[in-house]
Amino acid sequence: MNETSGGTFVGMPAFPEAARAAVGDATLRANLRHATHTIRDKRARAVAELDDWAELRQAGKEIKDRTLRHLDEHLVRLEEAVTAAGGTVHWAADADEANRIVTALVRATGETEVVKVKSMATQEIGLNEHLEAEGIAAYETDLAELIVQLGDDRPSHILVPAIHRNRGEIRDIFREKMGRWGRPAPEGLSDTPADLAEAARLHLREKFLRARVGISGANFMVAETGTLVVVESEGNGRMCLTLPETLISVVGVEKVVPTWRDLEVFLQTLPRSSTAERMNPYTSMWTGTSDGDGPSAFHLVLLDNGRTDALADEVGRQALRCIRCSACLNVCPVYERASGHAYGSVYPGPIGAILTPQLRGTVSEIDASLPYASSLCGACYEVCPVAIDIPEVLVHLRERVAAEGGKGHRLERAAIKASSWVLDHPTALATGERIASATRALHPKRLPGPGARQWSEHRNLPELPAEPFRDWWKKNRR
Ligand code: SF4
Repeated sequence: MNETSGGTFVGMPAFPEAARAAVGDATLRANLRHATHTIRDKRARAVAELDDWAELRQAGKEIKDRTLRHLDEHLVRLEEAVTAAGGTVHWAADADEANRIVTALVRATGETEVVKVKSMATQEIGLNEHLEAEGIAAYETDLAELIVQLGDDRPSHILVPAIHRNRGEIRDIFREKMGRWGRPAPEGLSDTPADLAEAARLHLREKFLRARVGISGANFMVAETGTLVVVESEGNGRMCLTLPETLISVVGVEKVVPTWRDLEVFLQTLPRSSTAERMNPYTSMWTGTSDGDGPSAFHLVLLDNGRTDALADEVGRQALRCIRCSACLNVCPVYERASGHAYGSVYPGPIGAILTPQLRGTVSEIDASLPYASSLCGACYEVCPVAIDIPEVLVHLRERVAAEGGKGHRLERAAIKASSWVLDHPTALATGERIASATRALHPKRLPGPGARQWSEHRNLPELPAEPFRDWWKKNRR
């Protein structure tokens, strides 16, 4: 599923409605709770090992901010370096243009199959679906992405896209679907992690050895040398980046860092924040092409797709610092209950709630509802390795939705206007308080009206005192 085509993410209902099914699914909630709590505890231990974590976090924030301020210059420098090293750079203003470029590049090779490294950018533009429509099969090779693809499912987590699946479900997907895409699952496949991993390894190895075109994203691009960097844990990325003859990388423009010194900061903060590792098992770096070593053709597709719009927003632009570690998802009480699918985008959780409405605008129902998919507890900000103040951006986007007259928020504006009037008129306030206290036995336990009823479904309304405070004060303190 992708971000733009019919029946997909954009057509989804608003967040509260989409989250309802997940909240009522006990198995899903148990899977999510177990997984997010395990990862968050491991992350906390890995981060606590470093005495200079706060300094690294600040350095990451400043490097990203500085780079974003001069993004145009760094991208031109990157293009020059990639070109000088034998690569070709393509610029894509939006998803359609990026898909067209990649399709044409694959077509030019004469191939009808590609292997893919896990990539958020290609999911964002719906590349797999586009290629499929053009008669090109795209095979995901990351284990979790493979589970999602075989299960005809959608990712629900940035780092662990199949976090909503347990081992039994994965075994069933492998048994049923692997044969349709290539080598079938071994007879009598069990649900032990070793057996599942072996089944995936055998299935994927055939594809690695056959593929002539690889497609990737990148975690970072170093402008000074034109080097791209992919960090991963399984080694599938290394296979896709080195075995095919042609490599096409689709990367968001905000992934550029000026120098190797800058990269060094993120190679410390990203693994600890994402997989709770001191460094990633596989850190692949490549610069253009090299004779007799790796792909002989390299294409870099630089993707905007709403990023420069986000850059123009002084508050919202901090979302572009994101290094996709997913730490904010693992600590978010809303994500833990609502699951990733409810966010209607490949970017779920707190970062999705601020990034998606900026990349796509707040026009659709789902995107306008995302800034409200938070309790503003601030746990996401605490763990973010580049110090994105997600609550600040959420409130900022809520203002934007309200200013645009978002559906459902007219009521909120009317309520705030009425409250302002009452608070500006002390006599009316005192009269209202007395009436409310005198009639308190008659008050409903739930509020009436569509929005208010839902709000009070899960909350206890406060008990009103028998007399207002100002009357009590007059009697007892004067
Ligand atoms: S917003 Fe921060 S914590 Fe969340 S994925 Fe991005 S970098 Fe990680």
